[in-house]
Amino acid sequence: MVFQILLVMFLIVLLTLFAFRKNKEKVVTPLPENYKELLEAYVKFYRRLDSTGRAHFEKRVEQFLAATKITGVNAVVEDIDLLLIASAAVIPVFAITDWQYINLHEVLVYPGAFNEDFDQEGTDRYIAGMVGTGGLQNTMIITKWQLRQGFIDNNSVHNTAIHEFVHLVDKMDGTMDGVPEIILERKYVEQWKQLMYATTEQIRNGHSVIHSYAAKNTVEFFAVVSEYFFEQPGLLQAHHPDLYKMLSIIYRME
Ligand SMILES: [Zn+2]
Repeated sequence: MVFQILLVMFLIVLLTLFAFRKNKEKVVTPLPENYKELLEAYVKFYRRLDSTGRAHFEKRVEQFLAATKITGVNAVVEDIDLLLIASAAVIPVFAITDWQYINLHEVLVYPGAFNEDFDQEGTDRYIAGMVGTGGLQNTMIITKWQLRQGFIDNNSVHNTAIHEFVHLVDKMDGTMDGVPEIILERKYVEQWKQLMYATTEQIRNGHSVIHSYAAKNTVEFFAVVSEYFFEQPGLLQAHHPDLYKMLSIIYRME
């Protein structure tokens, strides 16, 4: 009898331990413990949100990290890097609640700029980030230095990581052309194209605050003005009200 009681007790202890372990596994989150403070300190977009918006942003960041592999290539990926990459992913599609980056499986983090052969040494390195093609389909490369730089400088209108995620949004409809048909209603497409050409002319003539890289082509135009829109919305609105309005429509932030 004593033996049977002991056996039952042993089984109860075993089951409790097992259930506890299971439970513990369930609450594992990819987010570091102090993630709210880190977002508050480094992500301007997050700081501008109210408490409901912040909770929503945190959820989206968590979902992105759960779904996306992030790998350092000769670089140590720290908690802050994970949070900044996820933030850059969430910002352009924040108002599009059912968005998923189905064209992205992995983000590779390089320490610094690289060249077209992916060399990380030498003097001809100028690429700070890119959306992969060919063998690197569904992969994004981002450099740790530029990633952090984009978020640290509060007055900057540049953010390399946001720039790359905007390229992905643009690419989602099958073509990277500066016209994100997947989120832009058809009735606005012609208006958006006209605005791109007109503003590109202004940039080429030196009549705009927008960086000249935007005038390279419509793909870069869309990415560069989107960086501006998310980093310094007030400034963009003051200098290019029509462009600001159109980007608010595109990103559904009216
Ligand atoms: Zn680009």
